[in-house]
Amino acid sequence: MSEHGGGAYSRRTSCRLCGGESLDPVLSLGPAPLANSFLTSVAEFSREPSYPLDLVLCTACGLAQIPDVIKPEVLFRHYLYLSGTSTTMAAHNAGYAQEVVELLHLAPNDLVVEIASNDGSLLSHFRQYGVRTLGIEPARNIATLARHRGIQTVAEFFEPSLATQIRATEGPARAILGNNVLAHVDDPTTFLRGAVDLLAVDGMVIVEVPLLRPLVEETRYDTIYHEHLSYFSVTALMALCEQVGLRVCRLEHQAVHGGSIRLFAGHVEQYPAHVIEAVQEAAAEQEAGMTSLERLSAFADDVASHRSALREMLSSLRDQGASVAAYGAPAKGNTLLNYCDIGPALVSYTVDRSPLKVGTYTPGMHLQVREVTALEQEPPDYVLILAWNFAEEIMAQLSEYHHQGGKFILPLPTPTIL
Ligand SMILES: [Zn+2]
Repeated sequence: MSEHGGGAYSRRTSCRLCGGESLDPVLSLGPAPLANSFLTSVAEFSREPSYPLDLVLCTACGLAQIPDVIKPEVLFRHYLYLSGTSTTMAAHNAGYAQEVVELLHLAPNDLVVEIASNDGSLLSHFRQYGVRTLGIEPARNIATLARHRGIQTVAEFFEPSLATQIRATEGPARAILGNNVLAHVDDPTTFLRGAVDLLAVDGMVIVEVPLLRPLVEETRYDTIYHEHLSYFSVTALMALCEQVGLRVCRLEHQAVHGGSIRLFAGHVEQYPAHVIEAVQEAAAEQEAGMTSLERLSAFADDVASHRSALREMLSSLRDQGASVAAYGAPAKGNTLLNYCDIGPALVSYTVDRSPLKVGTYTPGMHLQVREVTALEQEPPDYVLILAWNFAEEIMAQLSEYHHQGGKFILPLPTPTIL
């Protein structure tokens, strides 16, 4: 580890999973600003910091990862992503809560803990079942929102000492949920060890992480950004579970966020072996080259070609006099815009449903974030869908716009006009 950027980040020289020291470069998308650091005024443009954004592969264990670690205090203390803003996510959360309650036969007063609980929108779906819920959310502004909706929330980073403290006051947890958090921590082993300490004998740790394979095979490089430190394969997840005394007992693929996996794990004493689906999936990953430098280098070539194709499409639309606005201001949109160098000269503005983002500017490219109604007031000829994982929902919402001749651009995996 060496410190850079006035102590704002450090660069790892060893693998965060196995400690191996052979980290081979795969792809460089930076330097880039933090994908969630939206700017609130034009005055901030000139002093916006940026950081390296490199993807490397540990050839010892096969974990693809970002070696440059931004201090969590810089990244997560004031966070603008509100999980409650999308209706797709709300339906996802309702189904998720019901599944966990049924699978674990949760009874009233059983404890469900969610790590990185955001505004409490997932935990709120558990309340109708009478279970106790506790959220852990280090972004203080968002923890406050969760408390306002009645979800008890601890505004701290999750670590083993906090796990011990919660167990002492609340008892062991039957279910510990972590959606899109395991990939965000610099030391996933210590993190998961904390979860194991808090877990009841018959409990389950349930984590959702985006998988490397769809990212590579569908060129979803925009999901690479500083918050997202590890790009897990099932192979790497099984190795991680082994390190902390957990076994994978169930595996489900999720369409949300573009190719995630929901992994259920219990204490090794309860599960003699990993479930067969996990073993098979890991074997298929090896076959598909997910732990090979050669395959990942081919992915890097695809990324470079995608950049050229998208820039060419937008430049030619501009030259024809067509107007383009974007939909969504997700973190991944900022990786895409910055890497492809798409600013106000190619895309006039973007819109977002999160009231916390409206009125800000996107990091790096400084597109103004406006209310969704801007698309009616100042309709562009094309809408570039940055939040492509919600494309169906967005296109349904804009059916009137489409009806009147407006067109959509889906940026990935190949830029396409609909
Ligand atoms: Zn490794």
